[in-house]
Amino acid sequence: AKQNGRNNYAFYFDDLKKDSARLLLLESELRKALQNKDFTMHYQPKVSIHTEQIIGVEALVRWTSDRLGIVSPGEFIPVAEDSGLIIPLSEIIIEKVCQDINSWRNKGIDQLLVSVNIAGLHFQQEDFIERISNILKKYNCSPEVFEMELTERTLMKDSSEIVNKLVRLKNMGFKISIDDFGTGYSSLSYLNRFPLNYLKIDGSFIQQMTSLQEKQAVVDCIIMMAHRLHIKVVAEGVESKEQVELLKSMDCDFIQGYYFSKPLPSEELVYFLELWEIH
Ligand code: C2E
Ligand code: CA
Ligand code: CA
Ligand code: CA
Repeated sequence: AKQNGRNNYAFYFDDLKKDSARLLLLESELRKALQNKDFTMHYQPKVSIHTEQIIGVEALVRWTSDRLGIVSPGEFIPVAEDSGLIIPLSEIIIEKVCQDINSWRNKGIDQLLVSVNIAGLHFQQEDFIERISNILKKYNCSPEVFEMELTERTLMKDSSEIVNKLVRLKNMGFKISIDDFGTGYSSLSYLNRFPLNYLKIDGSFIQQMTSLQEKQAVVDCIIMMAHRLHIKVVAEGVESKEQVELLKSMDCDFIQGYYFSKPLPSEELVYFLELWEIH
């Protein structure tokens, strides 16, 4: 069985070399892109199951590098996190979101809640709140229209420092949600220590729910538990009518996924919202 051992190792090192070359290039391309603020934001609608109204959108960053082409955030966000570049990147993202909120406001769209993904390292910065507030002030945007999506991993540490920060943010008017719920560190017991508005059930659960009874039971329990704690539930990665109906029967509050819309550039979102109102 070990006959090909040498070759396998050779392939392994070849792959490693390729991977680390790409990582290096990615990081240097990312540095260049940060100087030019070469990123755009797409927005994915969140729909209320009961009223079918669009209550908000999730902001998702997009990047086309000169040398690498389109790179998915699933690939470059971890690189940005490991290199510390996530801090300037996150501030550019907030700034872009504020600009888009202002362009929507000029078109009469001012009721939209915009959620932004907050990286752990960014949240942990001592001056996180001050710096975000300064950007919002610069663009005359109110915290009330913002939702911050934090992952379980960020909140897991459960120090009083994290709780204090969340309480301050909530008092300023920000909404807080826990993202990718169920994917890792799910200790349900800590949920009630945080001032959460929304819980987002990870798409992997939603996609397996229609074929696996166990997953369906988990989703059902998460929704019941969240409601007991007065937290509203968003199901993400919803792709089919069948999933929508099942979630409705479980009393889920909001739905996000390709079933309604993929993430859209700012101007396309405006068209989508207009069409949605007419339908
Ligand atoms: P996430 O926060 O869990 O975002 C949801 C991801 O699911 C997005 O991928 C979205 O395009 C995708 N998605 C939406 N609906 C469906 C669906 O029906 N089916 C499937 N299969 N996927 C769906 P995206 O935009 O590639 O982002 C991947 C991850 O990268 C995000 O996961 C988030 O962790 C990170 N990310 C994206 N944008 C930002 C950002 O602006 N800041 C930070 N810190 N992280 C970001
Ligand atoms: Ca998210
Ligand atoms: Ca998520
Ligand atoms: Ca995810």
